[in-house]
Amino acid sequence: MTQAQQVTWSYLPRQFQEIDAIVAAFKTFVPTGDFTLGQPLQQFEATFAKLMNARFAIGVNSGTDAIKLSLKVIGIKPGDEVITAAHTFVATVGAIHELGAVPILVDCQEDGCMSVADIASKITRKTKAIVPVHWGGQMVDMPALIACAEAHHLPVIEDACQAMFSEINQQKAGSFGKMGCFSLHPLKAINVWGDGGVIVTDDEALNERLRLYRNHGLKSRDEVVLLGYNSRLDTLQAIVGLSLLPRVDGLISKRIENLRILDEGLSQIPEIRLPPRYPNRRLVCHLYVIYVEQRDALYRYCLTQGVEVKIHYPKPLYQQPGLAHLGYRKGDFPVIDRHAETMISLPMHQHHTSEEMAYVVKVVSDFYKQQRS
Ligand SMILES: *Cc1c(COP(=O)(O)O)cnc(C)c1O
Repeated sequence: MTQAQQVTWSYLPRQFQEIDAIVAAFKTFVPTGDFTLGQPLQQFEATFAKLMNARFAIGVNSGTDAIKLSLKVIGIKPGDEVITAAHTFVATVGAIHELGAVPILVDCQEDGCMSVADIASKITRKTKAIVPVHWGGQMVDMPALIACAEAHHLPVIEDACQAMFSEINQQKAGSFGKMGCFSLHPLKAINVWGDGGVIVTDDEALNERLRLYRNHGLKSRDEVVLLGYNSRLDTLQAIVGLSLLPRVDGLISKRIENLRILDEGLSQIPEIRLPPRYPNRRLVCHLYVIYVEQRDALYRYCLTQGVEVKIHYPKPLYQQPGLAHLGYRKGDFPVIDRHAETMISLPMHQHHTSEEMAYVVKVVSDFYKQQRS
C-alpha cells in the first residue's frame, strides 16, 4: 500500500522557502523610507522589461489595474465597446467596466482562448479596442488577431496575466499588442506578498502616460498634468518580485517538464481529451486543464486521494449575476458551456516534483480503471 500523498494546488510555501534573503532585503530597505516609487521598484521594472524583451515595464498595483490603465491611456471612454473573451477571470471584464466601457464577449475555442474568427462579427462603430486573454497559459492566435485588429484599425491590449513566458513563434505573450498586462497576484507564476501588476510596452509615449496615470497624474511633486489614479506597485512588493526574477529560467523549464509528464501519462486514457498543443508555441501552463468524462465523480475522487483539483469555472462568467446587465443568455457561448461541464484543472506548477506529477496521473487513471471494471 502506498502512503496517501498530498499534491497541493498552492506552491507558495515552496516558492518562498528562502525567505531569509527577502527579510534581509527588507531590513536594509525599510530605514531608507523609500516606499513610494522607490529604487527597488525601478530595478524590478528594468529587470522585468529585459525578461520580456520589452522597452518599458511599468509596475502597478494589480493585474486588473494594468488592464484598466492600459485602456485609459488609449482613451477608452464611457459607452465605448471593448471586445474581450467570455472565458476569463472576472478581472478582465471588471477593468473594462470600471471605465464605463461595455465589455463585448466572444466565445472560446477548444484551447480555452477566444475564437479570433468570431471577433469580426462583434465589431460595431462603438468598438474601440480588443483585449485578448491568454487563458491558462495557452495563447490566443495572436498573428490572426493582430491581422483582424489592423484591418479594423483597433488597438490591442493583451491580458497576459495567465501566460507569463508563453510564446508563439518565439514571441512572448504581452508583446504582440500595444500593451501587455501581467498580474503578480500570489496565484500567478511570479508573485508578490499581496497584489501587484505590470504593464509592458515598446511605445515611449504610452510608457510616459502610464507612469502619470498610475501616480495621480503627477509629473513632479508640484505639477498635476492630468487626473489619474493611485495605482503604484508597492516598492516593498517589488523587492519580493525581484527575488524571484533570477529564477525564471528554472520556473519555465519545470512547468514545461511537468506539462510533458502529465500530457504523456494522461493521453493514454481514452476518457480524457487534452486541449490542442501547437508546435510553433511555447506553452508555460498556468492552469493544466483537461476535458473528461464523469467530471464531477473524478473531481471528488481526486480530492479523496489528496490531489487538489479545481474547476475554472463550473459556472461561466457570462451567467454570473454580476454580469446580468450585459444581457447575455444561457446558451450564448456554447463552447464555454460545454467546457464548463467537462473541464477539470489538475495541480501543476514549477515546484511539483516528477513523483507528484506521476502520482496525479496514477490517481486519474485509477479512477477510470475502476469505472471500467
Ligand atoms: C489574475 C488575472 C487578472 C487580474 O489580476 P489581479 O492582479 O488579481 O488584479 C486579470 N485577468 C486574468 C485572466 C487573470 O487571471
